[in-house]
Amino acid sequence: MNDSCTQTVTIIGAGLAGSEAAWQLAQRGIRVRLHEMRPTSMTPAHHTGNCAELVCSNTFRADHLENAVGLLHEEMRRMNSLIMRCGDATRIPAGTALAVDREQFSDLVTTMLKAEPLIEFVPGEVTEIPSEGLLLIASGPLTSDALYEQIRQLTGEDHLSFFDAIAPVVDAESVNMDVCFWKNRYDKNVTEGEAGDYLNCPMSEGQYKAFIAELVAADKVAFKGFENVPFFDGCMPIEEMAERGEDTPRFGPMKPVGLDHPVTGERHYAVVQLRRDNRMGSLLNMVGFQTKMTYGEQKRVFSMIPGLEQAEFFRLGSLHRNTFIKSPALLDGVLRLNDEPRILFAGQITGVEGYVESAAMGLMAGRFLAAMAQGMEPVAPPADTAHGALLAHISQTRVEDFQPMNINFGLLPAAPKKDGKRRLGRAERRLMVSESALASLQGWLDQQI
Ligand SMILES: Cc1cc2nc3c(=O)[nH]c(=O)nc-3n(C[C@H](O)[C@H](O)[C@H](O)COP(=O)(O)OP(=O)(O)OC[C@H]3O[C@@H](n4cnc5c(N)ncnc54)[C@H](O)[C@@H]3O)c2cc1C
Repeated sequence: MNDSCTQTVTIIGAGLAGSEAAWQLAQRGIRVRLHEMRPTSMTPAHHTGNCAELVCSNTFRADHLENAVGLLHEEMRRMNSLIMRCGDATRIPAGTALAVDREQFSDLVTTMLKAEPLIEFVPGEVTEIPSEGLLLIASGPLTSDALYEQIRQLTGEDHLSFFDAIAPVVDAESVNMDVCFWKNRYDKNVTEGEAGDYLNCPMSEGQYKAFIAELVAADKVAFKGFENVPFFDGCMPIEEMAERGEDTPRFGPMKPVGLDHPVTGERHYAVVQLRRDNRMGSLLNMVGFQTKMTYGEQKRVFSMIPGLEQAEFFRLGSLHRNTFIKSPALLDGVLRLNDEPRILFAGQITGVEGYVESAAMGLMAGRFLAAMAQGMEPVAPPADTAHGALLAHISQTRVEDFQPMNINFGLLPAAPKKDGKRRLGRAERRLMVSESALASLQGWLDQQI
């Protein structure tokens, strides 16, 4: 333990992110005050007073390096993650995925945190943001109403969302470029010699009508009782639009005007537009395609879109109750609030999605706060690691496009397609990205205290 350290760090929320952050701080000799409102006040999804309760599924998803979340697991293990340690200790058989016994898992996280003398548990809801001292807000997607209001005052109305409206994101490499074409509507804002920002998937009348019929017929996920998500322009599910009238999407996100084919001049009956979702151009966002269709139905129905027959989805669409801040406008690269850098955010509230990603951002916040508590400047891991890629997503995405995201290989630099003359397979290339990320992480760790 470092006796020279006098600063105590306050954490709001003992969920996936807050628990991991508290652990990381205590391991570095820093005192923590951990506030958790459960079981006195429950969220609409939690059932216990335990730390890091898993509110829905009991899986941390794929646990191998050919999957980006498997890479995130491995990076977390190499940084002494509490969540991964407890996940591994309570693992139950699930093929190549890491699934856990949910009760044993959160019991173990709670026991390990309570055994730490440097962590003080403070029960009860936080209704006011403490006015001084190092602070981590990790209150999650179901942040209590009073704290939501406090965060709104801190960030401004425009920078806090009460729900997400997520459109699917496609792997750019999986789109059939023989069918699709780059073009901005009426060629607006296109620099001479450049192709435009939108990749267009054109549809004939027959293709459009068949597609709309399947959108309407597809299985949807019902809203949970507490969600009460409003439908208004900008977040209406595409199938809801189709239900309002066969032509409604054609006058909305599938509008073909100004998108005649740049070579043949052909007019299309409807067009699906994809827009680059990251600087590298590896991710393409389906514009206006937020949806409540089940994941299986999204893959089936969206594969009817010309050019997307073989599309690989890095993210599927959804619409949830989800409190998150517009991080790129508010946070720096180490999760600090630009206007008040003593305050950090972590977990789902920063705009990552999923148990593992939330815990990973808690892990980062714990390390950054430990550095700050000891008077040092925190340093983020490189962007070619899974942790660095998530931090870059949070801090560097275009604010207008910002929506919660799982870790995926589209956020990491791509591996070469060939080794000499030999064409590399997808799995082989992904393994190369993971191995390079782990080497990069090790280089960064070697420079940390
Ligand atoms: C209904 C639902 C289902 C989900 N299902 C999955 C899933 O199956 N798989 C998956 O990977 N992800 C899922 N997620 C997404 C997400 O990964 C989890 O919500 C995850 O728990 C987020 O971690 P977190 O630490 O950010 O928030 P949480 O784990 O929710 O932790 C936040 C903590 O803050 C506490 N808190 C809130 N307000 C206050 C306050 N004012 N004072 C004190 N404490 C407070 C809460 O009680 C909670 O314990 C789901 C989300 C929701 C809402």
